[in-house]
Amino acid sequence: MEKIAANFYMLTLPMPFRLGHVHAFLLVHDGRITLFDTGLNTPETFLHLSDSLRLIGKDIRDIERILITHYHIDHCGMAGRLQDLSGATIHMSMRSRPFIMTQNGEERAFLDRIEFFCRRHGLPEKAIAFIGGLLGTFKKAGSSFIVTHFYEGGTKEIIGKREMLVLPTPGHTHDHLSFYFPREGILLSGDHVLPEITPNLSPNLFAPDFRPLQSFLASLSRMEALSVATVYPAHGRPFADLKGRIAAIRSHHDARKNLTLTSVKEGPKTAFAVSRDIFGSELNEFDQFLALNETYVHLVELVYEGLIREDRSGDSIVYA
Ligand SMILES: [Zn+2]
Repeated sequence: MEKIAANFYMLTLPMPFRLGHVHAFLLVHDGRITLFDTGLNTPETFLHLSDSLRLIGKDIRDIERILITHYHIDHCGMAGRLQDLSGATIHMSMRSRPFIMTQNGEERAFLDRIEFFCRRHGLPEKAIAFIGGLLGTFKKAGSSFIVTHFYEGGTKEIIGKREMLVLPTPGHTHDHLSFYFPREGILLSGDHVLPEITPNLSPNLFAPDFRPLQSFLASLSRMEALSVATVYPAHGRPFADLKGRIAAIRSHHDARKNLTLTSVKEGPKTAFAVSRDIFGSELNEFDQFLALNETYVHLVELVYEGLIREDRSGDSIVYA
């Protein structure tokens, strides 16, 4: 646990997946606690959180509310368990709502959407089966919860003596929120801006009109206008140079879009075939899925720009 400002702490919670850790943030006010993200619902994470709370003379029951950046298991896995123990309110984007519904017996319907998307874009069956199994693994690291407040858009809140802005920052996911404390220039950026990697951009399978890359870049531009002293990402070390990081992310996506266009110019291809041109053919099943997402969001923008077109051939989609 690191103190980042008065009564404000960063927790580095363990995570068995590739990134190794995820940060949650604790704000103590009026003797109570607001928690930003929760980590996974695992014994290690729970112990880490309760030990950290004890260090500042608090316990789980003091958690008054939980704000969640987005509906990914490493960010909200323990929310239900904490809500059961503390009665905390839980706050998320309105765009999280269809995903929350999938907690309550709608998993199969959600998986059907994923499989349909992957199949029509050419992902091999082995990878599709792997993703299905992975959702089961993720479910075990979660806990179902009740969202007591859905944010409809950006809003201002007072937490203790602090003013905080809730910023919708769609891109990595459609429902992503960041939290900004203007007086101290503290930005909790979730997965929207990370110091070492660019977040995987993914379509919203409940909202086909969502343009992940266009939304991501627009969110970055809005964020760039803020006066930020330190960015606190969900993964990796805090950093100061937000503008520099945003510039690097923009040029990465420019280059990636050019590679995508070059690949399609060779002849009609599925999104998965394009992803192999860019990422190679040696990826494991999970990375094949991530590469497909990443490629798809660039193809969507190239279609919007009129540089390529999307053709349906039977059950699959090819780009030309
Ligand atoms: Zn995420």
